[in-house]
Amino acid sequence: MPATLIDGKKIASEIKREVKLETGKLKASRGITPGLAFILVGENPASQSYVQMKGKGCEEMGFYSITEKLPADTPESSLLELIGRFNRDPLVHGILVQLPLPRQIREIRVLTAVDYRKDVDGFHPVNVGRLVIGEQCLKPCTPAGIQELLVRSGNDPAGKHVVIVGRSNIVGKPLLNILLQKKKGANAIVTIAHTGAEDISRYTRTADILIAAMGRAECITGEMIKPGAVVFDVGINRVEDPSAKNGYRLVGDVHFPSAVQVAGAITPVPGGVGPMTIAMLLQNTLLAAGGSVYPD
Ligand code: NAP
Repeated sequence: MPATLIDGKKIASEIKREVKLETGKLKASRGITPGLAFILVGENPASQSYVQMKGKGCEEMGFYSITEKLPADTPESSLLELIGRFNRDPLVHGILVQLPLPRQIREIRVLTAVDYRKDVDGFHPVNVGRLVIGEQCLKPCTPAGIQELLVRSGNDPAGKHVVIVGRSNIVGKPLLNILLQKKKGANAIVTIAHTGAEDISRYTRTADILIAAMGRAECITGEMIKPGAVVFDVGINRVEDPSAKNGYRLVGDVHFPSAVQVAGAITPVPGGVGPMTIAMLLQNTLLAAGGSVYPD
C-alpha cells in the first residue's frame, strides 16, 4: 500500500491561523504589532522570491514589515550599520538577512551582528549554543518546522531512530540538536549521515524516521528506506522538464515514485516541509515581539 501523504501546507495553515489569533491578542492586550525587517543584498532571483513570500506571510498575519534592498557590491560595514539600526528600532522585533550573501561580506559577522533576541532565523551563535544545551531560544525555522510537522502529523519522534542525511548549519545540525533533547516532541535517537559515509543506505535503512536534507535531486530511492518508515524530504531541487511551462520542475532529495511504495508516510515536494519554514518564521517573530523567549 502506498505511503500516507503528510500535508505540510495544511499544517502550516493551521499554525498561521494560530499565529494570527495570538497576534490579535498581543495587539489588543499590550498594543504591540509584531515587526519583521528583511534585508536583501544583491539580486539573486531565488532570494528575491523568498523575501517576497515571507513579506506576504507578514501581511497575512497583520505584522509590520519592512524590506531593505541593498546592491550586490554593498560593503560589509554598511550592512552591519543597517543591522545596528534595526537592532535599535523598537518597531522591529525580528531581523532576517536573506542568505546567501555576496563574497565581500562575511556571513558570521552578519549573523553575530543581529541582536540575538531579534534573530528570528535562529542562526546567531547565542541561539545556536542555547539550542545545543537545551535552553529556551529562537530556533531555526526549517528544523523547527520539521519537528512541528512530525508531531502534528502524529509521528512523535520520541524513542524513534531518526536518521538525518545532511549536516548543514541551517538544517541537519540544528535538527539533530532539536530532536535529541530530553523534551516533549523530541527525545529521539539521532544519527547524521553525510558525504563522509561510504554507503549512506547502511544508515538510511535503519531509520524509523528518515530526513533527507542533502540538496541532491531524487538521491534517496525506495530501496534505501526501511518498509513503513516516515520519510521527510527537505530538498528543493530544480530539474529540467521540457514539458513544464518554465522548463523545469521541483523535486526533493527523495525519489518519490519508489519511496512512496515503501514508506509508511512521506512528505511531498512541494507542499511538505517547505510551507512549514515560513509558518515558523512568523511564529518566531510573534515570540520575539511578545518577549517571552528572552524576558530579561
Ligand atoms: P547544504 O548546505 O548544501 O548541505 C547539504 C548537506 O548534505 C551537507 O552536509 C552534505 O554533506 C550532505 N550531502 C550532500 N550530498 C550528499 C550525499 N550524496 N550523501 C550524503 N550526504 C550528502 O544544504 P542545505 O542548505 O542543508 O539544504 C539541503 C536541501 O534542503 C536543499 O535542497 C535546500 O534547497 C533544501 N532546503 C529547504 C528548505 C525548506 O524550507 N524546505 C530550507 C532549507 C533548505 P557534507 O557536509 O559532507 O558536504
